[in-house]
Amino acid sequence: MTELTDLTLAAARDLLDGREISAVELADAHLERIATVDEKVQAFITVMADQARTMAADADAAIAAGEAQPLTGIPVALKDILCTVDAPTTAASKLLEGFVSPYDATVVKRLRDARAVFVGKTNTDEFAMGSSTENSAFFTTKNPWGLDRVPGGSSGGSSAAVAAREAIVSLGSDTGGSIRQPAGFCGIVGMKPTYGRVSRYGLIAFASSLDQIGPFARTVEDAAMLLGTISGHDTNDATSSPRDVPDYRAALGEDLTGVKLGVVTEWTGQEGVEPGVQAACEAAYDTYAELGAELVPISLDYAKYALPTYYITAPAEASANLARFDGIKYGMSIDAGDVLESYLRTRGEGFGAEVKRRIMLGTYALSTGYYDAYYVKAQKVRTLIKRDFDTAFERVDAIVAPTSPTVAFSIGDRTDDPLAMYLADIFTIPANMAGLPGIAIPCGFSEDLPVSIQVLGPAFGEEITLKVAHAYERASGWHERRPEPVA
Ligand code: GLN
Repeated sequence: MTELTDLTLAAARDLLDGREISAVELADAHLERIATVDEKVQAFITVMADQARTMAADADAAIAAGEAQPLTGIPVALKDILCTVDAPTTAASKLLEGFVSPYDATVVKRLRDARAVFVGKTNTDEFAMGSSTENSAFFTTKNPWGLDRVPGGSSGGSSAAVAAREAIVSLGSDTGGSIRQPAGFCGIVGMKPTYGRVSRYGLIAFASSLDQIGPFARTVEDAAMLLGTISGHDTNDATSSPRDVPDYRAALGEDLTGVKLGVVTEWTGQEGVEPGVQAACEAAYDTYAELGAELVPISLDYAKYALPTYYITAPAEASANLARFDGIKYGMSIDAGDVLESYLRTRGEGFGAEVKRRIMLGTYALSTGYYDAYYVKAQKVRTLIKRDFDTAFERVDAIVAPTSPTVAFSIGDRTDDPLAMYLADIFTIPANMAGLPGIAIPCGFSEDLPVSIQVLGPAFGEEITLKVAHAYERASGWHERRPEPVA
């Protein structure tokens, strides 16, 4: 039999339901794998070994009682920005070191109710600000395909954990690319759902109008199963949609005859795209044509403004959201005698350099006299970006594009150059600005490192997005490769 840590969610589900394996065995295999490889990969901030064993025993009881759901007994890793009552939630910040939330995030609660098994909390860039996990206050996660490479970010721990077989699936958050980009760098599947599809309650907020929680998995089918469990309306998040949650797994098919796929004219030959990435993506478009899809050139005129408008909108919202970390209510608290001095010292010592940079950029963009020139203008451009997509989706069913312009870069390569770091998200940010779903899937290798394409869909078009991704995955088989450095 396949090793337990190589199982997909779908395969593990069948074995658990058929009582061929137990959830406790599955949890133990993953905890053992973490003990063996995480010294190298460093995906986890907190390993939840005791909790996992208890949850696995509960899952076995639920299965025995005939109450299994898709995620029952499945080892899941959680980005350490999702609140959990039974493990610390740090957002990879010194400011929140040791903080234990009094409540579970809604996605965490849904997984707990489904009797999933939490194996741990994963590393991220501090408060999800970054593209490499190098902004974590604790350590940098390593890419399982090349241990001198970044795993991407900000959800790099969650993507590395799934690529390294330390968890079957995991959750991350994507504000400007933080699920799709690390999934791409680690050669796995990562999906950002439509804004409003998944409740953000209990996700430590970075930029509230952009943040969205989503799944990492090694197959599109597994991502669909996890997405189904975490989606749906939540009265605790006013922006969550009341729409019904479709059966995402049932939407998967392999025939793309008649499906129209947009290829963004402005992104073909875009400066900064590595030739190996370009070649792998073009080969993927050819595969799509062979699968019966019609490739249609489309134009997204305003997408080139997505990155600059994001770096006004996201820091502006971050500066407001991070105001609550004042050393009084949570986490680190430096008592400097008077209140103002205590705030200043706690925030001065608690936040890292990138978080401070975002707070300063955001505060500036929101200040009197600049608000209209920056924030309001960015909101207007955001509307234009969204309209471009609306027009495109009148002609096509989904869009295919590179996930990132490069493969995983070397650790340390971009730490001194914030602009070079920000460019890693040039193809992912437009979907966040427009609130659209996007899924990254492996599409080949360049210099032995994974390349990824993303499929973008119309708002609440998760089904077609997943279907288009699944058809390519089945035809190409790239998802079957495993990272040798941690084999
Ligand atoms: N890399 C982007 C940033 O630094 C996006 C991060 C994210 O999606 N959380 O803001």
